[in-house]
Amino acid sequence: MIETIESEFAELTANRTNTTSSAAHCRFCKAPLTQTFVDLGMSPLCESYLTADQLNRMEPFYPLHVKVCEQCYLVQLEEYVSPEHIFTEYAYFSSYSDSWLKHASNYVEMISERFQLGAHNLAVELASNDGYLLQYFVEKGIPVLGVEPAVNVAKVAEKKGVPTLVKFFGCQTAQEMVANGQAADLVIGNNVLAQVPDLNDFVGGIRIVLKPGGVATLEFPHLERLMEENQYDTIYHEHFSYFSLITVEKIFKGHGLVLFDVDEIPTHGGSLRIYLRHAEDNSKPVTPTVVSLREREVAFGLDRMETYANFGEQVKESKRALLELLIRLRRNGKRIAGYGAPGKGNTLLNYCGIRTDFVEFTVDRNPYKHGRFLPGTHIPIYVPEWIREYRPDYILILPWNLKAEIVAQLAYAREWGAKFIVPIPTARILE
Ligand SMILES: [Zn+2]
Repeated sequence: MIETIESEFAELTANRTNTTSSAAHCRFCKAPLTQTFVDLGMSPLCESYLTADQLNRMEPFYPLHVKVCEQCYLVQLEEYVSPEHIFTEYAYFSSYSDSWLKHASNYVEMISERFQLGAHNLAVELASNDGYLLQYFVEKGIPVLGVEPAVNVAKVAEKKGVPTLVKFFGCQTAQEMVANGQAADLVIGNNVLAQVPDLNDFVGGIRIVLKPGGVATLEFPHLERLMEENQYDTIYHEHFSYFSLITVEKIFKGHGLVLFDVDEIPTHGGSLRIYLRHAEDNSKPVTPTVVSLREREVAFGLDRMETYANFGEQVKESKRALLELLIRLRRNGKRIAGYGAPGKGNTLLNYCGIRTDFVEFTVDRNPYKHGRFLPGTHIPIYVPEWIREYRPDYILILPWNLKAEIVAQLAYAREWGAKFIVPIPTARILE
């Protein structure tokens, strides 16, 4: 069976000559990458916040030049930075966000009900972080195993009673797991698929570790939403791939897995949760939701190169509109502060060239960031109370996906007439 699928995959990639060169070939189908999706210039790693003594040193910048494959339409970044460098000491702990925990616990309820999971099953999460999700299976008495490459984060998970394998996931890890009796009834991957440099090795690993009747679910930001809503700031070096349903379906099919259901979920500005099974498992038919979303993507043009080619111009126009607004406000003597210091803010500010000449400082609730500076733009990050002290005329909301929550938190700023700006999809002042 394995041989059949491997030869099917070999067929898919057979007409490509160069499969070994690291640069300029599609991460999935190995076709040469010649078409630009969007070029955001040079940018520092978006999570590398600086301390005061780092401001006078050299700072590494890497290209943020996104390409699209003409064969399979996979939108992708070349691997400019090694994943070991980015992820092994990744500072992000999932449990820090209440809304994300709620999302995880709802998912566990839904999935264990739908597929009748119990004490005889095993749920495996890839990039399990600090056990933020698997802890809810543990509560229900469903056995779990996390796979997580960041040592410090995995230690926190172990303390919560979530057994964790400290490894990068791929075919080799999957084979070891199966040999150890750790084949999975449920494989979960939330916001990890985009961050995998060797996509075929990762997807191949899912097929290996998944039991014959098992289900895998993966969540990732939806490319259609990124394009429709101009979310170019969600592009950063840690995200190697950007998926439509059409393309992700092709990728999994190439590895003997069928996408049989899909949910559209609101996380990260609009994501997909896809459900996969082995091609041989006929017990789970493909749902009408898959068919209609596929049709919607075709209507949007995700199966035509010109749709992708137009995106770059849309992004440039969004930059011009934001700069135009900020220039007008500054010329009129208005004072502008930022709110938030998210990774996406750093892509936006570096691409648009917005430094303290426009935004004097930003604030964030994460204590790690206080007293530090944004990478590249060197905008200082203060505690949220600074807004009340400084009384800016305008507040630029960088995590625009949380704008309703932030406007509510900062309701007091209306006392002195402050207004809010959102930069995406196109710059506007909230009335
Ligand atoms: Zn391709």
